Amino acid sequence: MFEPHSEDLRPLFRNNRDWAGAMRRSDPDFFTRLVDQQRPRWLWIGCSDSRVPANQIIGLDPGEVFVHRNVANLVQPGDLNCMSALQYAVDMLRVEQVIVCGHYDCGGVRAALEDSAHGLVDYWIWSIRQTRDRHVKELAGLDAPQVRDAMCELNIIQQVERLSSTKILREAWQRGQKVSVHGLVYRLADGLLQDLDASLGPEAGHEERLRHAEAASLARARNHERTKR
Ligand code: ZN
Repeated sequence: MFEPHSEDLRPLFRNNRDWAGAMRRSDPDFFTRLVDQQRPRWLWIGCSDSRVPANQIIGLDPGEVFVHRNVANLVQPGDLNCMSALQYAVDMLRVEQVIVCGHYDCGGVRAALEDSAHGLVDYWIWSIRQTRDRHVKELAGLDAPQVRDAMCELNIIQQVERLSSTKILREAWQRGQKVSVHGLVYRLADGLLQDLDASLGPEAGHEERLRHAEAASLARARNHERTKR
């Protein structure tokens, strides 16, 4: 019979003590400062994939980025978790940048492109299939890895679009709050981020910018500027 043992967590506690000790040695006031307040400038909406940890890949310490992660970095209006994190980050923490960061080789995107059933997650990734269906003509003619790369990018751009149409961001922009939304893609193979040039702010022209970003993603795939994965 399987018995849970907290000793299994021992390596984690050891790592934690080492990390906290190292932080205190480099900055004795670090933790006391964080106790009083968090003032992150960024909200990161990323994939749950263990290979894409927000703080590490953008080199930020605790307190510097507010993070929400889920499978395939989706922004769904019915997702109370994501919407609550967004509202808290924008309305209370007053973050200046909202980042949607997806990654190539995303298992969620890959599963959405397959016809086979995966269980409960199929409901979650259903909207990725809608994105694929919307671009079915442009994706035709690309080979399977190119479609996956293009879809990872198109999925990110779709989430930027969804964010920009939330009441939370629309009201923030109406009251003149300086907050913008960005779409980034992360490459597992080299650890580098790329801007998808889909940044949106209070100004008009969202539609044009998003369609341009989508066209650029599809052109990258078509022109065989394959991302080395
Ligand atoms: Zn992923």
